[in-house]
Amino acid sequence: MQEGGVIRLLPDSVANQIAAGEVIQRPASVIKELMENSIDAGAKEVKVVVQDAGRTLIMVTDDGCGMTETDARMSFERHATSKIREASDLYHLSTMGFRGEALASITAVAQVEMQTRVEGAELGTRVETAGCEIGAVEPCATPKGTRISVRNLFFNIPARRRFLKSDATEMRQVSQEFLRVALAHIDIDVSLVSDGQTIYKLSSGGIKQRIAGVVGTGMTQHLIPIEAETDLVKIKGFIGTPETAKKRGVEQFFFVNDRYMKSASFHKAIVDAYKGIIAVDVTPCYFVYIDVDPQTIDVNVSPQKTEIKFDDEQSIWKILNSAARKSLSDGGIMPSIDFESSERIEIPTFGVGSRDGETETYNPFAREREQAQRFASTVNGWERLYTGLEKAERTYSSSVGSYNPNVVERYDPFAMEASTAIQREMFPEAERGVIEIDSSRFWQHIGKYIITTVPNGLMIIDQHRAHNRILFDTYKQIMQHGNISGQMLLYPERVSMSQNDACIVSELQGELAQAGIDVTVEGNEVVISSTPTQIEISAVRDILEELVYDCQQGGADVRSGIGDYIIGRLAEKVAMPYGRELTAEEMKDMYEKLMTSAERGYTPQGKPTYRVVSNNDIERLF
Ligand code: ADP
Ligand code: MG
Repeated sequence: MQEGGVIRLLPDSVANQIAAGEVIQRPASVIKELMENSIDAGAKEVKVVVQDAGRTLIMVTDDGCGMTETDARMSFERHATSKIREASDLYHLSTMGFRGEALASITAVAQVEMQTRVEGAELGTRVETAGCEIGAVEPCATPKGTRISVRNLFFNIPARRRFLKSDATEMRQVSQEFLRVALAHIDIDVSLVSDGQTIYKLSSGGIKQRIAGVVGTGMTQHLIPIEAETDLVKIKGFIGTPETAKKRGVEQFFFVNDRYMKSASFHKAIVDAYKGIIAVDVTPCYFVYIDVDPQTIDVNVSPQKTEIKFDDEQSIWKILNSAARKSLSDGGIMPSIDFESSERIEIPTFGVGSRDGETETYNPFAREREQAQRFASTVNGWERLYTGLEKAERTYSSSVGSYNPNVVERYDPFAMEASTAIQREMFPEAERGVIEIDSSRFWQHIGKYIITTVPNGLMIIDQHRAHNRILFDTYKQIMQHGNISGQMLLYPERVSMSQNDACIVSELQGELAQAGIDVTVEGNEVVISSTPTQIEISAVRDILEELVYDCQQGGADVRSGIGDYIIGRLAEKVAMPYGRELTAEEMKDMYEKLMTSAERGYTPQGKPTYRVVSNNDIERLF
C-alpha cells in the first residue's frame, strides 16, 4: 500500500477551464452570458461589439447597476453570484442565471477587462484578468454601469480555438444569440456592431416592433398573432402565415418567462397546426412567448440553460397547438367561421335581417364573455369542429361505398351531407333555419374568382384554389377509410427511370396505391397500371417525377408526409381550371364546402384560397 492518497483537488484554474468547456463553447456563448448579466443588472441599454466574429474581441457595455470594487473582484470567483443565497432561492428565481460561473469561466479562457461603476460613486473600478489570474485592479473614470471586454477567446487552449468554425458561421451564431436575448427583452435598447458595422439597432417597444426590427418591416404583414390564456399558461406572440414557410433559415423562437428556450416538442405543436396548409418540407417562422408559474418549471437542467423542464408539458403542448390552429383559422384571412359559441357576428348570415351591420344574433355582451372564456372556447371550438368532422366522416363512410372522383367534381350529395353535418354541428342556428345562404349572393368574376358579401367586407374566392382545398380534404377523408379508387389502364404506361429513382418509386408503392395510382417496378422501368379516375396519364407521370425529385431533395421530411403530398398533387391537378363557368348554385356550394374546411384559408400547398376586402378598405376607396 502506498502512503498517502492519489486523489488531489484540482487547482481552481483547471476546474474553471473544465467548467468553461461546458458554459463557453464559442463567442456566441460569451455574448449570451454577458448580455444576460447586463439585463440582470437592470440595464436599459446594452451594446454589443465584436471583432472577427468575436475571436479577437467581444465587448458588452450596459448602463445597469454596476459593481463596487469588492464586488468587481468577487465576480470573477467561481460560484460567485449575487443572485442566490440559499438553495431554496433556486426555485424562485426570475433572473437569467444563477450558477455564478459565467465570469469565472470566461476568465479561464480569455483576457478579460472590466470597467464598472455604481450609481453615486465618484470613480469606478477597472479589473484586468487573464487565464484566471486577477491582474490589475485600479480606480478609473467610467460611466455608470459595466463594460466587459473579452479578448482573444481560447488564447490558452489552441485546440478549442481551432475547433471554432469559419467567421461567417460563428457570426451567425453570435447574431442568433444576440437576437434570442433581444427578443426576450423587448423593453431594453440593444445593438450589435460587428467589425465597425451596425448589424442590429433595436429600440425598446412592443413585441411586434421588436420582431419587425429583426425580420424587417416587410415581413410583419405576414405575421399573425397567437394568444391563449389559462390558469396554467399564458401564450402570446406571432406566427408566420403559411406563405412564409421555408426550408431553412427560418426564424423560430420560443421564450419561457422571458428566457429563450429550445423545444423540439413545442416546435411540433406549432408546425402540427400547419399540417395540410404548408408543404411537408418547409416550416413556418414563429415568435412565441410562454409565461408559466416559475415554480412549475426547472430551468437549470442544461449548462447552457436553453432547455426547460415543465411539470405539465403535455397540457401546454395542447394549448399551444390549439392556439396556433385558432390563429391560422382567423389570422389575416377573416372572416373565419366563428368557433366561439358566444360570438356570432362574423358568421356570414345572409338570410338574417341585418341593420347597420348588426345581425339579429348579435350579442352586446359577447365580447366580454368571449374574453372570459377565451381559452375554453379556443379548445372547445376545435373540439366541436373535430366532433363535427368525425360525425360527418361517419355519415360519409357509411354511405359511400367506393369512391368516384366524378361525383366530387359535381359536388356529390354525400359530401354535401357531410358538410351540412359539420355546419349543423358548428351552427345550431342553421338547424333552426336562421342561417340561410342565398345563392343569388354569388358572382363569378373573369372566370377566376367567386365574389360574395360577408358582414365585414367583400370576400373573393379563388375558384381553382378553393376547389383544390375541398378536393384535398375529401381525398384525405377517403384515405382514412381506404383507397381512392383508381381506373385500370388498358395499356399500362411504362416510364424509364434511373435505378435509384425507380427504387424510390417502389418504396412509395403503398402510398401511391392509396391514392389510386398502382405502380410496379421492373428493373429501371416503372409500370403504371391504374390512375385516379380523373387524372390523365401524363399528369400522373408528372406527379411521379416530381415526387422522386422532391424525395431526393427533401429526404425524410418529404417522406414522412408522403400520403398528404400525393393527394395534394392530385387535388392540384384535378381542381377545376380557371375559365370554367360556374352556376350560382355551384358557387354557393363551393363557398359552403370551403368554409367548413378546417384549413379553408389555404391550399395544401400553402397558397391563400380567399381574401376579404374589408369594409374599411372599401370605405377608403371613396
Ligand atoms: P451569475 O450571473 O450566475 O450570478 P456570473 O459569473 O455571470 O454569475 O456573474 C457573477 C456576479 O457578477 C453576478 O451575480 C453579479 O452580481 C455580478 N455581475 C456580473 N455582470 C454584471 C453586470 N454587467 N453588472 C452588474 N453586476 C454584474
Ligand atoms: Mg450570469
